[in-house]
Amino acid sequence: MKKGLYIHIPFCDSKCSYCDFYSFKADETLKKEYCSSVVSHILGADTVFDTAYIGGGTPTALSAEQLGSVARTVNTKLFEDAEFTCEANPARNLKDKMLLLKKAGVNRVSMGLQSANDNELRRLSRIHSSEDVINAVDAVKTAGIDNFSLDLMMGIPEQTLKSLDKSIDFVLKTGAKHISSYMLKIEKGTPFYKDPPILPEEDEVCEMYLHTVERLKKEGFLQYEVSNFALEGYESRHNLNYWDCGEYLGIGPAAYSFMDGKRFYYERDIKSFISSPKAIDDGEGGDFSEYAMLRLRLTTGLERQECIKRFEGGEALFEACLKRAQKFKGSPLINISEHSISLTPQGFLVSNAVICQIV
Ligand code: SF4
Repeated sequence: MKKGLYIHIPFCDSKCSYCDFYSFKADETLKKEYCSSVVSHILGADTVFDTAYIGGGTPTALSAEQLGSVARTVNTKLFEDAEFTCEANPARNLKDKMLLLKKAGVNRVSMGLQSANDNELRRLSRIHSSEDVINAVDAVKTAGIDNFSLDLMMGIPEQTLKSLDKSIDFVLKTGAKHISSYMLKIEKGTPFYKDPPILPEEDEVCEMYLHTVERLKKEGFLQYEVSNFALEGYESRHNLNYWDCGEYLGIGPAAYSFMDGKRFYYERDIKSFISSPKAIDDGEGGDFSEYAMLRLRLTTGLERQECIKRFEGGEALFEACLKRAQKFKGSPLINISEHSISLTPQGFLVSNAVICQIV
């Protein structure tokens, strides 16, 4: 089974209006203390990983020295052909950090563009402009990292189909190999939750989603998951491992893990992570239902042969799903064959409701 390593860097220079990730502004002392704690955790892991992902928060909010020490330590725990991603926030001064990351083994960068329209970025309280993204992409390419992903968001206040098209054009022009395209969700506890903005109508957002799928397809970006698109061979191996119910070790406050059939996590508290880190038991994981629900997020869907390979009685478990899926037969939501069940882009729009009825 494949294994992924996730490192959470919970620092952001300012908070976006929609964000409920565990991240905040911190001083240098705390960042330094945190990085040395993370480095010890990584060194303590007696596993070699197939993929690694430094995410957050904003990993590039660390100093070059701090980020370098975390990345170099991660690299000591990876197979030679591992995929090693670092998230970055678009900014003008990324050149040195990108060179350093490349030297430390990072071979993939993921950046949150969200929109190429500066009015929409302001509505999200993003601190970058589209101009900053151009500079950041240039830094990534100059460092010799050609595999990079940009995030797009749908359903932003003031967004229209036309302005979304402008963002898609922008992304395509950068030469990104991978695009994640998410719908804005208003999460509890965020500034948007307390003071809700006027959003595009639900129908419009669904149209934006289906339009994005079609446009990206024409440009050679195949959808491989609800929100993810890639040129052939550039799918995120790290994320594919999550949806394949593979193992992963998460290091940092609010990071989740699934190792040896057990789920556990660290609480959202950096101080306790540094002073007395305690992994909290979150029960057993990896049973058939969980596997099937995750697999149905992928365009390849749930496959008979894989079910047989992975689970005792896998054939009967697959058959039961196939039987329940028959009620959607002929609808535009689902593709069914003797060998697999998968959702269509229309199906992904109502994925929770459909998956619950199949699994
Ligand atoms: S940069 Fe990312 S992690 Fe930080 S506040 Fe914004 S959305 Fe959240």
